[in-house]
Amino acid sequence: MKIKVLSLFPEILEAYFSASIMKRAVAKGLVSYELVDIRDYAYDRHRKCDDEVFGGGAGMLMKPEPLDRALEAAGSPALRTIYVTPSGRLFNQAMAADFAREENLVILCGRYEGIDQRIIDTRVTDEVSIGDYVLSSGEVAAMVVVDAVYRLIPGVISGESLAEESFSSGLLEYPQYTRPEEYATMHVPEVLVSGNHAAIARWRLKASLVKTLAYRPELLHTIDLSSELGRLLKEVIDGGGENEPRTADSGGTGADRPARI
Ligand code: SAM
Repeated sequence: MKIKVLSLFPEILEAYFSASIMKRAVAKGLVSYELVDIRDYAYDRHRKCDDEVFGGGAGMLMKPEPLDRALEAAGSPALRTIYVTPSGRLFNQAMAADFAREENLVILCGRYEGIDQRIIDTRVTDEVSIGDYVLSSGEVAAMVVVDAVYRLIPGVISGESLAEESFSSGLLEYPQYTRPEEYATMHVPEVLVSGNHAAIARWRLKASLVKTLAYRPELLHTIDLSSELGRLLKEVIDGGGENEPRTADSGGTGADRPARI
């Protein structure tokens, strides 16, 4: 996949693209990237990219001309072009999977009060919000989108890791533990060290349901209550046994934990 990110501050993005898993994906040829400085497409010698908003109001807006030229050069709108904006569609895993199927992605970062609507109308294919809050600029949001997308490209990380993550099954991920088995008087839930794979799988599924029910109940609406998963969900709703998983709010996930102060 080739990713082009257009920004007034491309240096914010450089560190992200040249470290860790992204660095390896680039080295393996799975991802290539280009960071475009929108100011390079400004007309005047001051490289001005913002102006006052028609109709009045506080703040400045990104001007259409530099954006239009930069997006034209990047291949928009023929290539999938995402403008990250709080007034876009809420980003989720399904969108990330959809974007991951593209060979090219162009991502536009806003600043100030955002960008001139005519650019959205003519060059942008997707307006994407990463959450119901307002950031000061689009670079962090662009990194969120890129990060969720590129790890889904085959070969970037193992398929097994992806399969068990939150949202891949429609549920939040179950709690996980590593060595030591006892830490600060807290024990790993017994079933996880039992070697009983069927019992472990059941515990994990139930723990996922407990967590999803507590934090994101709306994700459970599509579960068929007559299915095995539906039966487990009913058990969770009716209240688990002593060794059943629980959320942090209800005193932990099943591991022994000291009382909270
Ligand atoms: N005036 C805009 C509004 O109320 O919708 C907010 C502009 S914000 C201060 C500046 C830029 O940050 C936006 O153009 C966008 O690129 C980025 N941004 C801020 N919050 C975001 C969010 N939740 N998701 C995606 N991008 C965001």
